[in-house]
Amino acid sequence: MEFEAVIGLEVHTQLLTESKIFCGCSARFGAEPNHHACPVCTGMPGSLPVLNRRVVDFALRLALAVGARINPVCVFARKHYFYPDLPKNYQISQYEAPLAEGGAIEIEVDGKRKKIGLVRIHMEEDAGKLVHDEARPVSYVDFNRTGVPLLEIVSQPDIRSPEEAVAYLKKLRTIVRYLGICDGNMEEGSLRCDANVSVRPKGSEEFGVKVELKNMNSFRHVERALRYEIKRQIGLLLEGKPVVQETRLFDEATGTTHSMRGKEEAHDYRYFPDPDLVPVRIDEAWIERVRAELPELPDVKRERFMREYGLPAYDAEILTASRPLAEFFEECVKLFPQPKKVSNWLMTEVLRELNREGKEIDETGLKPEHVAELLKLVDEGVISITAAKKIFPEVYATGADPRKLVEERGLRQESDEAALEAVCREVLSENPAEVEKYKAGKKGVIGFFVGQVMRKTRGKANPKLVNQILTRLLEE
Ligand code: ADP
Ligand code: ZN
Ligand code: MG
Repeated sequence: MEFEAVIGLEVHTQLLTESKIFCGCSARFGAEPNHHACPVCTGMPGSLPVLNRRVVDFALRLALAVGARINPVCVFARKHYFYPDLPKNYQISQYEAPLAEGGAIEIEVDGKRKKIGLVRIHMEEDAGKLVHDEARPVSYVDFNRTGVPLLEIVSQPDIRSPEEAVAYLKKLRTIVRYLGICDGNMEEGSLRCDANVSVRPKGSEEFGVKVELKNMNSFRHVERALRYEIKRQIGLLLEGKPVVQETRLFDEATGTTHSMRGKEEAHDYRYFPDPDLVPVRIDEAWIERVRAELPELPDVKRERFMREYGLPAYDAEILTASRPLAEFFEECVKLFPQPKKVSNWLMTEVLRELNREGKEIDETGLKPEHVAELLKLVDEGVISITAAKKIFPEVYATGADPRKLVEERGLRQESDEAALEAVCREVLSENPAEVEKYKAGKKGVIGFFVGQVMRKTRGKANPKLVNQILTRLLEE
């Protein structure tokens, strides 16, 4: 019997507003514990929340970007539960009448594009953080994060594999970064994902019992946790045992999941509209103001890169996955109008350095002028592509001018035809047996001759020119 997985993701993104959602405290990460806290975000009796308008602006950006329907009136609700990092004993969230419903995010896996539907996007406040000191043992609570604005984005159960789940998360991260509303850092918790997963016999219409997975702070963990959980559930079904609806935690050390608690239902939270906050009316003028500020989005940019620069889909996808990288590409092409060559360089040499350092291109000292200059030097035959690759890490690291480096290092390629011809003649006279092979029809040995010339010139010969000269000499 064949099974298929059904997956729906609940993603929380921390918004990059200056202040918290319902008070004036700073929403920035990294302060001393409890230095960003006030009576409102610590839930003191008599204090009242006031909505930060910027949070709605940011939420609208995302809603518009994914084509969701924006509710003309949305309402905040109290979601009750007890936890030491939640001083009010309820979280202000949205339940009925969330900010937006519907919309979709398009992903690509194995060359196939697919739309993952969205259920809803709502605004809510983050909880604080517990810090456990195992040595004493004692637990502390830090309220700096309490009241930091979050958007929760709930997908339809349209995802069918761990790969699709990761593609969805990456795409969502790309979108929130394009929009400038969230830094998308999973390790630091500014983008968090709970994964709901069930399995069912392939071809069945009905959904199986789902399990919710928590505690995954990287794409890799999401993929591993889902893979393990799908296998575990199929194992149960094959043994005729039921899957229990519950919340499970991923353990990155073992790559397994274990039960954390039984599933809570919506009614356990005793949701009701928060009487301290008025309903939020979002009129057309507000929506249009936000729409007018939207940047070109990744899917549109991708299509345009293919159309305008003649790039393959693969290149366009990679270059537009990051807005700064896409903009860097366009700047390079203005200076060196050969898009495919620029793309190749960015996708190999530049991405290698960026991935090594885990950086975005705008966090480095590299300038489009550097890349364009280097590609020009190769194009003009001044240096070989090998030499360009050799000096690039230094250009990247120090921001050095490539033309100067080439002079300093004596990397200028030998393009003096007479000088190269002398070396070619030398190589041919030293290797009469290979010359015979060539004359007998084994044209491939030309590669060997080119290699010898390169060795004698310590890599400085212009290989294209060497090839031409050798061919001429051998055909004579
Ligand atoms: P709950 O009320 O348990 O929170 P929701 O209907 O709100 O469930 O859905 C939460 C998430 O779980 C959504 O992302 C949804 O797509 C997903 N989901 C719902 N049913 C299933 C299922 N049978 N298998 C996998 N995911 C599911
Ligand atoms: Zn506060
Ligand atoms: Mg739910």
